[in-house]
Amino acid sequence: MARYTGPVCKLCRREGEKLFLKGNRCFSTKCPFEQGRDYPPGEHGRMARFRRRRPSDYSLQLREKQKVRRIYGVLERQFRRYFREAERRSGLTGENLLALLESRLDNVVYRLGFADSRVQARQLVQHGHFVVNGHRTHVPSYIVRPQDTVLVRAGSRKSEYFKERAEQLDEGAVPTWLSLDVKNMTARMVQTPGRGDIDLAVDEQLIVEYYSR
Ligand code: SF4
Repeated sequence: MARYTGPVCKLCRREGEKLFLKGNRCFSTKCPFEQGRDYPPGEHGRMARFRRRRPSDYSLQLREKQKVRRIYGVLERQFRRYFREAERRSGLTGENLLALLESRLDNVVYRLGFADSRVQARQLVQHGHFVVNGHRTHVPSYIVRPQDTVLVRAGSRKSEYFKERAEQLDEGAVPTWLSLDVKNMTARMVQTPGRGDIDLAVDEQLIVEYYSR
């Protein structure tokens, strides 16, 4: 599955806020936002801070959509597919969309604490370290469903990486829609995440409006 491979911090600078795409680095002084380089990328980015133009409705909708897409590392075509699926489901489309994105296997691995970022989680999944419902899966976009079990493959548990991770994992720190058994490196999705479970400061309604134009 295709993914964005360009400069990552540029994405945060374009959105004008930290999207926490690089794990621990985002909390360090290496983050451009901590160095005062929080202006948009490009030749005229620095000057853009001083231009005080009121953004149009379209611009607000587009930026919100791009922000969420970048947080989850999903390209436009796939994101649009998630949106169509969210529309088909009963309930609020915006909330369904976020629930779908949260249920991606790479995001679940990240939320469980097996990785510091979704990018790292994606790589772990692609390298076959996880087993879902008894089947090894390499697909980061796999949608985990309630009562599905996700566990670290027996062979992978012996690796230095997972041994170290096991010491850092905290069962109490995982979101309530997931449960984690650190001893057995096994997790379960308890329920589909609701909007209140997703700690993202985004207005999903703007995304609905963007695709409803
Ligand atoms: Fe964004 Fe993290 Fe880069 Fe800071 S370090 S700009 S939060 S990806």
